[in-house]
Amino acid sequence: MADASPYRAPVEDYAFLLAEAFGADLVDRATGGELTADDATDIIAGAGDFAASVIAPLEAIGDRLGTRLEDGQVHLPDGFAAAYRAFAEAGWVTAEAPVSAGGDGLPGAVRAGLGEIWNASNAAFALCWLLTAGQIHALDAAASDDIRETYLTKLVSGRWTGTMNLTEPEAGTDLGAIRSIATPRGDGSWAVRGQKIFITWGDHDVAENIVHLVLARTPGAPEGAKGLSLFVVPKILVNADGTLGDRNAVTTVAIEHKLGIHGSPTCVLAYEDATGYLVGEVGGGLAGMFVMMNSARAGMGFQATGISDRAYQQAAAYAAGRMQGRVLDRGADAPIAEHPDVRRLLLSMSSKIFAMRALGVYVGDLLDGDVHGGERGAAEEKLAEFFVPILKGWTTEDAVQVTSEAIQVFGGMGFIEETGVAQHYRDVRITTIYEGTTAIQSNDLVGRKVLRDNGAVVDELLARIDETAAQLRGFDHAVATRTADRLERSVAASRRATADLLAFANSPRDAYAVSVPYLMLLGTLAGGWMHALAVAAVLVHPTMSETDADRLVSADFYGAHHLPRVHALAETVAGGEIG
Ligand SMILES: Cc1cc2nc3c(=O)[nH]c(=O)nc-3n(C[C@H](O)[C@H](O)[C@H](O)COP(=O)(O)OP(=O)(O)OC[C@H]3O[C@@H](n4cnc5c(N)ncnc54)[C@H](O)[C@@H]3O)c2cc1C
Repeated sequence: MADASPYRAPVEDYAFLLAEAFGADLVDRATGGELTADDATDIIAGAGDFAASVIAPLEAIGDRLGTRLEDGQVHLPDGFAAAYRAFAEAGWVTAEAPVSAGGDGLPGAVRAGLGEIWNASNAAFALCWLLTAGQIHALDAAASDDIRETYLTKLVSGRWTGTMNLTEPEAGTDLGAIRSIATPRGDGSWAVRGQKIFITWGDHDVAENIVHLVLARTPGAPEGAKGLSLFVVPKILVNADGTLGDRNAVTTVAIEHKLGIHGSPTCVLAYEDATGYLVGEVGGGLAGMFVMMNSARAGMGFQATGISDRAYQQAAAYAAGRMQGRVLDRGADAPIAEHPDVRRLLLSMSSKIFAMRALGVYVGDLLDGDVHGGERGAAEEKLAEFFVPILKGWTTEDAVQVTSEAIQVFGGMGFIEETGVAQHYRDVRITTIYEGTTAIQSNDLVGRKVLRDNGAVVDELLARIDETAAQLRGFDHAVATRTADRLERSVAASRRATADLLAFANSPRDAYAVSVPYLMLLGTLAGGWMHALAVAAVLVHPTMSETDADRLVSADFYGAHHLPRVHALAETVAGGEIG
């Protein structure tokens, strides 16, 4: 069965989020007036057209055909190389790179939208861009002029692609266990030796060179994460004049056969004294790689939102056309979309997706940090750091549920591969695992961002949510009142949960046993906050459009069906480790 619902980018939502929902034109503020939310909406609409016409048609093909390793070279299915060339030539890689790296420097709030769109149209394809974008940020932050000139410029132009090489057979979550070693050759280069596994887009035939960013240990380095340094290792060596030379000693040993994202080559790479170049200081590897990991973690939030929306769009289209059973209180020609429970499923998905999307824009904007300035700016920088693990952990966990609900809407046909909806469920499953599992996000949140400062950033966040609830009290509208009531109750439960968590400061096993529930609590609450901001923005409109009315229904639904999870999760947090 062909995909009955071609991908439609959520342009209207982004117009609303960028211009209205946060009480300011985020784009105007971030670019100092160079671009406005209207300009950014045009860019997002252009990306949506490109994604729908060039990238989305390859999604099912990538899933069905997967990638092949032949004679040491990985091949993507027909069409991927041309699409990646078109993607780069259209300037989409450059658009998102920072100005300091030679890119166009689109603001973070806009990059959130683009990230969603690339991932919604084809998550496996988007991973190539996502990792390249992350590497661009890492090299921009730490690389020498030589490396910038030789590698960064090619990455920013989209001619070469980037990878992230952390994982080894004995070093997954625990990066301190990395054993790969880099030895200085005395001529400014290093010999890198070791095996890396699970390397996304570790080899392919869609671009002329691949730049591997590799964490390795130097001789005599201390044990653990402190002993790690960062190296650029090209697949093909680069001559002094910038032309491509010989193959470097990096071999693709195998590609993995996976549950999903079949169009993304996941490679086992052997480094056999491959030539590499140090990025930053010896021993500064983890700090350097964190720039890439943070970018990729936010990117996972956009990936989860994108895949969820694709699944929702397909489910909504199917439900609007499928006839089954007499629908309560509706005419004989009412499709399944009108059954109260199917409507529940659809609203469950769409209200969560809006919350995820809005949080992505909010965090993207916060990550631009320097545009905020002043005392509030300093607080926002802390909030940005605080929200990265929540965006990554909460959206990915809930995306698994959203894509599962999409299958439910299809009934039996959802379980059959031809409809295409099962692919989203399979594809999204990895998002809670790579770029740090949900446990690692929650350990980061609880350990570094809550216990360490005795809950100061959470207090700041909850005070801001209180401000929004107070703002809603100013509207004479039933949805505003209900939303304010629910939000205030959830904030109170979150304060209790935070106090309970802080009380575990001296019994860390208790704190870490409930760190994922605590992360999910804050993500769910943040989603309710995003809806509350939307309600406030809609209710100042002089007249109510159909879209405005839909936004109120979505907020009301989220408040009744999703936000109450905060109370259950608060109970769980209070319990600490059981047994
Ligand atoms: C398709 C795919 C693509 C990937 N792409 C890349 C890539 O491009 N580059 C790269 O470097 N890696 C990549 N990875 C690796 C990925 O990041 C790791 O799989 C992930 O970090 C988990 O590591 P692990 O698989 O070794 O699991 P483990 O670390 O063995 O974890 C197993 C379980 O134990 C839990 N656990 C472990 N330590 C702790 C702890 N301290 N506290 C609480 N729970 C803990 C985990 O949460 C998990 O539930 C990819 C993996 C896959 C499957």
